[in-house]
Amino acid sequence: MIEFKNVSKWYGDFQVLKDCTTQVSRGEVVVVCGPSGSGKSTLIKTANGLEPFQQGEVWVDGISVGAPGTNLPKLRSRIGMVFQHFELFPHLSVMRNLTLAQVKVLGRSETEAADRGKALLTRVGLADHMHKFPGQLSGGQQQRVAIARALAMDPIAMLFDEPTSALDPEMVNEVLDVMVDLAKEGMTMMVVTHEMGFARKVADRVVFMDQGQIVEDCPKLEFFDNPEARSERARHFLSKIL
Ligand code: ADP
Ligand code: MG
Repeated sequence: MIEFKNVSKWYGDFQVLKDCTTQVSRGEVVVVCGPSGSGKSTLIKTANGLEPFQQGEVWVDGISVGAPGTNLPKLRSRIGMVFQHFELFPHLSVMRNLTLAQVKVLGRSETEAADRGKALLTRVGLADHMHKFPGQLSGGQQQRVAIARALAMDPIAMLFDEPTSALDPEMVNEVLDVMVDLAKEGMTMMVVTHEMGFARKVADRVVFMDQGQIVEDCPKLEFFDNPEARSERARHFLSKIL
């Protein structure tokens, strides 16, 4: 579904991605971890054309992201992206946050969009909050709205970039629970996170990045339960966060 082939990217002389190759198959959950500054956000954002790159290829559902003729807005509308800082529209109600792109981008009627919005808010446990504004919700609630908003577009895959790292600890699980449900329903997901409990529960594979490189890319059980086979860098990282 998502394929990164020898992707390299530079900021001036600084190489932020070094020959990165990996993929996310349909229905697969891939967790990306690694130290701060290792290129995780940059890599995940190449998948929806938010980060241009100079070398390599990124394919999403058979479409080459970097190719000149690719319709990036259309591609983006098919991939859900959830960021660390929710990025909801602050001046719009929760419901309008969910319906706007459905109407403007997908051409759904207001009624259809509202029905879908309500169903998704119910699913993330926020049906009672649809008339509020984002600022009236807790961080965990806002992030659940952000996930519901992404799902409203019926995405073919979901990208998450540290979706819980800006949250107070007591709110982390309410967001992870929504993500675990999504994973169990078979959503294709690429998730940058340091929540190794989440990775253990639902990841199929774990990708470990360091200094712009994919250092490890292996099945979850191998990553967690076979530490002798891990690189020194991955073991050092795990010893600090587990
Ligand atoms: P991570 O998500 O793993 O913390 P990022 O992908 O955000 O890492 O960043 C990788 C590296 O690229 C970091 O060293 C960061 O400082 C650098 N970087 C990110 N954006 C820019 C930019 N616009 N210009 C120059 N360097 C950048
Ligand atoms: Mg990041």
